[in-house]
Amino acid sequence: MQKKVIVIGTGLGGLSTALRLSTRGYEVEMVEKYHRAGGRLNLLEKGGFKFDMAPTFFSMSYEFEELVKDCNMPMPFEFVELDPLYSVHFEGDQRSYLIYKDLKKLALEFQNVEPDFERKITRFLKAAGQIFHDTENIVIQRNFDSLTQYLLKLTTVPIKHAPKMFYSMWREMERNFDSFEVKVIFSLVGFFLGATPFDTPAVYTLLNYTELVHDGYYNVKGGMYKIVEGILQELQKRGVQIHYNTEIVSFSKKDGEISSFTDTSGKEWKADLFVVNADAAWFRGAILKRPEFSVQKLDAKKWTLAPLTIYLGLDAKVPNMYHHNYFLRRNFEEYAGKIFKNKIKLDKPYYYVNIQSMHNPDYAPEGKECIFILCPVPDLRYKQDWRDDDEIADGIIQDLSDRTGFDFHAHTEVKVVLNPEHWEEMFGLYRGSGLGLAHDLNQVGGFRPKNKDEKFNNLYYVGASTIPGTGLPMTVISSRLVTERIQNDHGIVPKK
Ligand SMILES: Cc1cc2nc3c(=O)[nH]c(=O)nc-3n(C[C@H](O)[C@H](O)[C@H](O)COP(=O)(O)OP(=O)(O)OC[C@H]3O[C@@H](n4cnc5c(N)ncnc54)[C@H](O)[C@@H]3O)c2cc1C
Repeated sequence: MQKKVIVIGTGLGGLSTALRLSTRGYEVEMVEKYHRAGGRLNLLEKGGFKFDMAPTFFSMSYEFEELVKDCNMPMPFEFVELDPLYSVHFEGDQRSYLIYKDLKKLALEFQNVEPDFERKITRFLKAAGQIFHDTENIVIQRNFDSLTQYLLKLTTVPIKHAPKMFYSMWREMERNFDSFEVKVIFSLVGFFLGATPFDTPAVYTLLNYTELVHDGYYNVKGGMYKIVEGILQELQKRGVQIHYNTEIVSFSKKDGEISSFTDTSGKEWKADLFVVNADAAWFRGAILKRPEFSVQKLDAKKWTLAPLTIYLGLDAKVPNMYHHNYFLRRNFEEYAGKIFKNKIKLDKPYYYVNIQSMHNPDYAPEGKECIFILCPVPDLRYKQDWRDDDEIADGIIQDLSDRTGFDFHAHTEVKVVLNPEHWEEMFGLYRGSGLGLAHDLNQVGGFRPKNKDEKFNNLYYVGASTIPGTGLPMTVISSRLVTERIQNDHGIVPKK
């Protein structure tokens, strides 16, 4: 008997789950509130320019290899490895630092600020690598049936890593390096988790190992949206239908199962099983009305920083800039400590700039350039009024012009600014939080919202706010974990 699954949401987690379940013989249909697939991994088009809307690179490329192998399909896009990985500019410093994977080249970048750098980074990365290999299969790559099972599994992590659960990533930097620049640059990975290095446990230095040693960073030839386009083509071949502009708002239940979900137009969506790719914590509260996930309870959780994103289409090429660039200042600790709660003015922010047309020439007309700027900002709990978004964006563009000597304002043909309210509205990101639930140790593994519903037997979750966590490779792992659960509960469906 064929079993029908409805996947709610077409983020990378939803799309990958649809692929895996269709491979296992399930009939899959998808509903999506936005007008285009991809969720945060989306595309923006304006005035002849294209922009990858949010993710601009990813790590753990082997997770995509695993996905296509599992789904018996060819790789639908081409990876481009980044090396150097990114450049970092400090305010008031004429030079910038290029971050190479080759440690000898990297040591040359820091020769004037961090004596004996190569020895120090080698020692630091060795310890970070041990954490990665000792925890990956225990914490990231598996399902947990209960908190007890998770905690028992944690006891198999070598005890030597335990102290790093209790002190911060910044402290780990201080233990290994002396210069401000090196400590700041290698603690930027804390922001990839959506937090700051001062409140991210030192165990997450494992991310330094993944960026510099284990697999590095990649983007995709032709733009990140090629990931979505490639998967969509494959889903189309498999007859998976996607219904856009369809937002789920309520549900009906029968005998301990979900019988249907209902969209804003009143249409009922019926299936044997449902997989929710909308935020796993928000959905339980807003749609299923669970008191444990009420607005009050959700607000008390830790959420990752919200994005303020700027998309610029320029009438000229930008000289002397690398593809990925961080623009930082010298008040790192003060800024990191205050930005979350909106306790510092946004007139001198930290931000990231991606010259998208450098690797993807088709994104901009000949001789022109498209730029993506991301500035992490407080979420909607701490700053509700975003009428000043244009003013903040203009300040960033001016700062970028001053620091690079290229007048971005004067060359702008197209400009779009998205603030946390837009992000919440477009993809249902809770309070506009960009990466979903934070990764504090009490919000990961067995503590994170589960990928199988607590009450309804036929309801599952995939994506950034369920296990294992946020980021593109993590959502691909999430799709494998939820598929494993579904397969264990409901089996493989024989092909018709
Ligand atoms: C600005 C920014 C930059 C980022 N940069 C990177 C990066 O460089 N590298 C990286 O690896 N990761 C990056 N990330 C994180 C990455 O984008 C996410 O972790 C990942 O895309 C999440 O995928 P997902 O499948 O969990 O969910 P989403 O992408 O959020 O998809 C969920 C989908 O569900 C839909 N939906 C929600 N509610 C409903 C409803 N009620 N009814 C119907 N549909 C609904 C949404 O519209 C959405 O399409 C970035 C994120 C942001 C915001």
